[in-house]
Amino acid sequence: MKVLKQKRIDSTNVTKNPLLLEIQGDYPGKYGGPVNINVASMTEEQKKQYYLGWQNNRFNQFVSDLIPLNRKLDDVREPECRNVVYREILPRSSVIICFHNEAWSTLLRTVHSVLRNTPSKYLEEIILVDDFSSFPHLKEPLENYVKKLPNVRIIRSQKREGLIRARLLGHREAKGEVLTYLDSHCECTEDWLRPMLQRIAENPMAVVTPVIDRVDETTFKYWTFSGPAINIGVFQWDLTFNWGPVHRERRKAIESPVDPIKSPTMAGGLFSIRKDTFSKLGTYDPGFETWGSENLEISFKIWMCGGTLEIMPCSHVGHVFRGSSPYSWPKGMSELRTNGIRLAEVWLDEYKEEYYKRLGYVLGDYGDVSERKKLKKDLNCHSFDWYLHNIYPEALWVKNVVIVGPLMNKLSGTCFYIQPDDTLAMASCSMREPLLYYALTKTGEIRIDMRCLAAYDKIIVITCSGNRGIEEWTVHQTGHILHLSSNRCLDLNQDGKVILNKCINTPSQMWSFLRLEKPQKK
Ligand code: UDP
Ligand code: MN
Repeated sequence: MKVLKQKRIDSTNVTKNPLLLEIQGDYPGKYGGPVNINVASMTEEQKKQYYLGWQNNRFNQFVSDLIPLNRKLDDVREPECRNVVYREILPRSSVIICFHNEAWSTLLRTVHSVLRNTPSKYLEEIILVDDFSSFPHLKEPLENYVKKLPNVRIIRSQKREGLIRARLLGHREAKGEVLTYLDSHCECTEDWLRPMLQRIAENPMAVVTPVIDRVDETTFKYWTFSGPAINIGVFQWDLTFNWGPVHRERRKAIESPVDPIKSPTMAGGLFSIRKDTFSKLGTYDPGFETWGSENLEISFKIWMCGGTLEIMPCSHVGHVFRGSSPYSWPKGMSELRTNGIRLAEVWLDEYKEEYYKRLGYVLGDYGDVSERKKLKKDLNCHSFDWYLHNIYPEALWVKNVVIVGPLMNKLSGTCFYIQPDDTLAMASCSMREPLLYYALTKTGEIRIDMRCLAAYDKIIVITCSGNRGIEEWTVHQTGHILHLSSNRCLDLNQDGKVILNKCINTPSQMWSFLRLEKPQKK
């Protein structure tokens, strides 16, 4: 394993406090290594803890608890990052960490990693925003612990606010010129903050994110992304966030591995922004509930209203990605949809139709958005069409769509559905699920956002490549969908599998896009 020779950038936070001292010798997870455990050999009590840890967090809390709060990570940056010359005077940042029922070890490892890797002259404070947690360890024990750390304070919401309003509480309380938000299960690495502060010092309307590395949810191994493996943030027409590759055109604009990478959107949890810029941009829509869409709202408006959104490749922070949320959603998952509709109403202009189509035009009550529309007007922002043409042209494929809707098989009456592993299955056509909404384009693609239906000898779903041969289909009046290069038709076999077959006149080869008409206003 690599031993670091480089000296710490500043140790004022570290040397004086025994809790922050470097741990000597070997320990689990050192340098970001994995911690593997054998569940079979555990005692009954340990097993109980192990399963409870997964249940409470949807990550391996048992393993996280074995790793010191202070674990040292490798310096994962590109070598060029060490030669960057930073301004001596940079704005100071408040680091705001919102949490709801976070595990002790992940929360405090986040805090420790900030203290250890941030020169104190750039760190105004760390604010922990407790969003109405119920776990006992987050009450008095947390308060007592935090008292022993420099510059950390806790603020608590009076009711469950949800992540978005919790971040706004932090915004209100923060004293720093810059605000840096982190999730409550992160690990900051060597000199992570300075590249972001520098960019903001150069341009007050710059919003920046670190490269978000992955802390494995099972072993807590630290996986880093660098060079071409760094993804940008994008969005899909069902208004979900996604990571996307940096295409050739974008890559051309990046001259060195330390250059900022323009990103159409951000994942949401980890970013830095000037406090006054965030205020000027109207922070987040206060009508948003719990979680979701706030990252797209802020991304769209940064670009549309005169700012920039970039990833700083010399700044790396690990985040524990998990498959699902452990916590309750006070209003159920419908919050996600309401947030999305508010977002579309305000920021998408005529493109909101693309989203609504994929919701089957079921909008429900999404409240009043007039204040947010006024904000957009007052800020004199660009249109969403401008955003697409200038910031995320990859999404303009949507202009070539002939029809979009669930694709139904005449024999079974069920619809195409991409499973999480990218294989195709059939599902009920009435399921309100954007993954059911295929679009047929003028160039013969059948696609869901950046993924295209393609076929060699079997049918697959791939990232659209513009390769007309394997991704080109023709929909006939008869309902046949012909795969051009193989001259075969889409078929549903007796096992319910979607296959390619010799074209014949049979209902299993007949398909139709269910047209979803916009309901007429009464
Ligand atoms: N969070 C919160 N209140 C909520 C839900 C989440 O403060 O009602 C916090 C959560 O503890 C975490 C951050 O918001 O620090 C982001 O949530 P999460 O990590 O679950 O989202 P993900 O990273 O999985 O998208
Ligand atoms: Mn998270």
